[in-house]
This record gives sequence, structure tokens and C-alpha cells, in this order.
Amino acid sequence: MNADRSDEDARPGETGPLRTDRKQDTTHFGYQEVPLGEKRRRVRGVFDSVAPSYDLMNDLMSGGLHRYWKRYTVWRAQARAGDQVLDVAGGTGDLARQFSPIVGPRGRVMVADINHEMLRVGRRRLADEGLVGNLDWVTADAEAMPLPDDRFDVITVAFGLRNMTRKGGALQEFRRLLRPGGQLLVLEFSHPVWPLKPFYDAYSFKIIPRLGQLIAGDRESYQYLVESIRQHPDQRTLAEMFADAGFERAGYTNLTGGIVALHTGFKAQA
Ligand code: SAM
Repeated sequence: MNADRSDEDARPGETGPLRTDRKQDTTHFGYQEVPLGEKRRRVRGVFDSVAPSYDLMNDLMSGGLHRYWKRYTVWRAQARAGDQVLDVAGGTGDLARQFSPIVGPRGRVMVADINHEMLRVGRRRLADEGLVGNLDWVTADAEAMPLPDDRFDVITVAFGLRNMTRKGGALQEFRRLLRPGGQLLVLEFSHPVWPLKPFYDAYSFKIIPRLGQLIAGDRESYQYLVESIRQHPDQRTLAEMFADAGFERAGYTNLTGGIVALHTGFKAQA
């Protein structure tokens, strides 16, 4: 059940546990192997397609549990009034909605996402709720953020990391953007504990693509979501990747039997 790191995360000259049977210039897109440059385009296509029904589908697929996972993530972030928060792959702004009142008028919350359509849906939704003052919405690729070093107190990524092409490189980018002592929190689907696994597999492969077809009229995107979860590194591998990217106190907490895990790490104090 060990998921490998992606080849594209290999450091120069590194072999060991990394896969050596695939070409260096391809990566996963769900269960398909695609050229590196193509993954971004395809991921964008998936979220263009699902954006209008994204929030409803989240509630249906998780039975509302995603709200609890996200609340827990925000609680663990321990953000304070005046903090600078970056929510990477922030999509329709679920975390930003919770951070905004916490950091207050002296702080800021930046929602960054590669997909303009997801941000557009989120921005409109939060504006309808009166949340505008301390939010910035930025279309950007998490793997190369156009921002200076040491800028944020907290960085979160909820259900975004598995879509990124070079996960190790993205983690290093998040560390660059954090101020010394700042915390990264990555909430992501993970590998459930054994008794849950057969039920979870049956549910995700049989029900979720059908729900996608029924609600969003798009079975393929939801098939990709299910497959991308299976390709994502397991808890221990991702914790090692945090440490490799230079994070201190890298650890994780399983939620709902490991269906989801919250990974955390800190940038060293200067
Ligand atoms: N964080 C939101 C949430 O939890 O509801 C949205 C999660 S959604 C499953 C994944 C998001 O990751 C999408 O909005 C997608 O556009 C974004 N994404 C994928 N690859 C990205 C990248 N390289 N840089 C920034 N955002 C990315």
C-alpha cells in the first residue's frame, strides 16, 4: 500500500525507493501516464468542468464530512489576528471563509489557485456572504508562486497537493514563502486503515463517478479524482517528503480512519 514519490520529485542522482521503470518526463494523471507538461492542462480542465457543482458535490461525496476536516485544519493552524495566511489551491474558498474573521482587518488571507473558474465561484460566494475586506484572490501555479520569501505565518493546502506535478518542489516552494516559525498544513485524501479500505474502495470507484455523472454531468473528472487519491503518497511517505523539503516537526493526524490526513510541519526559526 506504499505509494511512491513521483519520479519528478527525485533529487539529482537519487535512485533508491523512487521508481526507475518510468521515463523521467512523464507523471500520473489518475491511472494514466502523461507527459509532465500535460498534467497541469488536464488538471485545469477537470476543475473548469467541476467548478459550478464543486461545493454541492463535496457535500454529497463526503456526507458533509469535508466541513469537519476543514474546520479541524483551521483550528490546528492557530492563526491569530493580524496574521498573513496563504490558502494554496484554495478553490472556492472554504478555508479562506474561516480564516478571514480570525485574522481580522489587520491580517490578510490570500487564496491562490491555478484555476480561474474555481476562484471566480469562490469569490462570488464569499462576497455574497459579506466577506471581502481582507481577502485576495490570485490565479497562480503553486509550484512557482510569484511572491517574495518569508511572507506568510500560515500556509494551507486542502485537497490540492495530489493534483500538483512536482509535489516535493511544491513543498519547498511553500517553505520558501513561510516566515521562520510559520506552519504548513496539508489536508489531503490518504490511505485508510485496513477495516475501512474495502468499503472505501467500493464506495469511491462505484459511487463517486456515478454521482459525478448525475450531478455534474461529468463522470470522467470524478474518475480522475478517485484515481488521483490512490496515486497520492501514503501518510508516512508524505511525512518524509515534508522532512526532505526542510520542514521541522513533520507529522500527521489521521481523520476518519485515515481516509483523510492532516500533515503539518514548521519552517525553522531564523
Ligand atoms: N482547497 C479547496 C477545497 O478544499 O475545497 C479546493 C480543492 S480542489 C479538490 C483542488 C484545487 O487545486 C482546484 O481548485 C485546482 O484548480 C487546484 N490546483 C490544482 N493544481 C494546482 C496548482 N499546481 N497550483 C494551484 N492550484 C492547483
